[in-house]
Amino acid sequence: MNEKVSVVDVTPRDGLQNEAKPVSTAEKLRLIELIVKAGIKEIQATSFVHPRWVPQMADAEAVAAGLAKYTSVRFSALVPNLKGYERAVAAGIRHHEFVVSASDTFNHKNLNRSASESLGLLKEVTRRAHGDGVEIRVGVSAAYHCPFEGKIPAAALLSVVRAVREVCPSRIALCDTDGMAFPDQITESLTGAREELRIPAGEIALHFHDTYGRGLANAYAGLNEGVREFDATTAGLGGCPYCPGASGNLATEDLVAFLHGLGFTTGIDLEKLLDAAEFAMQFSSRPYQGHLLRAHRAGVCAANAAGESVAPV
Ligand SMILES: [Zn+2]
Repeated sequence: MNEKVSVVDVTPRDGLQNEAKPVSTAEKLRLIELIVKAGIKEIQATSFVHPRWVPQMADAEAVAAGLAKYTSVRFSALVPNLKGYERAVAAGIRHHEFVVSASDTFNHKNLNRSASESLGLLKEVTRRAHGDGVEIRVGVSAAYHCPFEGKIPAAALLSVVRAVREVCPSRIALCDTDGMAFPDQITESLTGAREELRIPAGEIALHFHDTYGRGLANAYAGLNEGVREFDATTAGLGGCPYCPGASGNLATEDLVAFLHGLGFTTGIDLEKLLDAAEFAMQFSSRPYQGHLLRAHRAGVCAANAAGESVAPV
């Protein structure tokens, strides 16, 4: 099997946005350079959110200005509203991630508006994006569980996905924002999207946090349903703003080693990705959250890390 899986590294945005200690623009661009060197072709570079809400993203324009030299990499940015959309367009970002939550309470807490207001905004952003030649991916946050409302039933998630598709027929990322999803929920949501909404798995990305160590199990459920696009962060940076101290996103290096072990291709060089993970660790306020970097440092052979079978000792 040589099937390709796209790995979207979201470290500069999701990985850093919860870190209180400021990371300079130069350091962010060095991190991006290392991620690019590892062969990653899609990176979520920043967020055009108001700096009062997320001070770490206050340099969005400066980060965007440092990306032009990478002509073969697709850079995206999160845009929470029209102002963010306009800033991102002005900064030359052509791939935008617009966020709507599957939970109305989460939408209010995270974006300060109702989910239906977000859908109205998405309609306007989609209209403008069409004229501006901008591609939109819609991230559905708290898709499986909400810190305030609890488990999101598949029917509730699918009704939000349906509403999103009615105003914006582009790619969708289902985001397990607090890392509480279980693999059966992933399977149920993807089956429902395919059978009830006629959305093929190829138009869906999955975004996992590893709060409870379920990231790879959930990714495996997605792979089995045909999803071929996953978000992750180098060194597992990130977290959940509602669970202080919790593990971050699924680590890019763990995901890539897992995919290679299953026989998928990613075009990513694991050794170079570990260089990026080591560099990224200086920005983390917690110990390393992934697995591969630790195993590698402990002397586990590269073949094992790459997923080839190694006889147990
Ligand atoms: Zn996230």
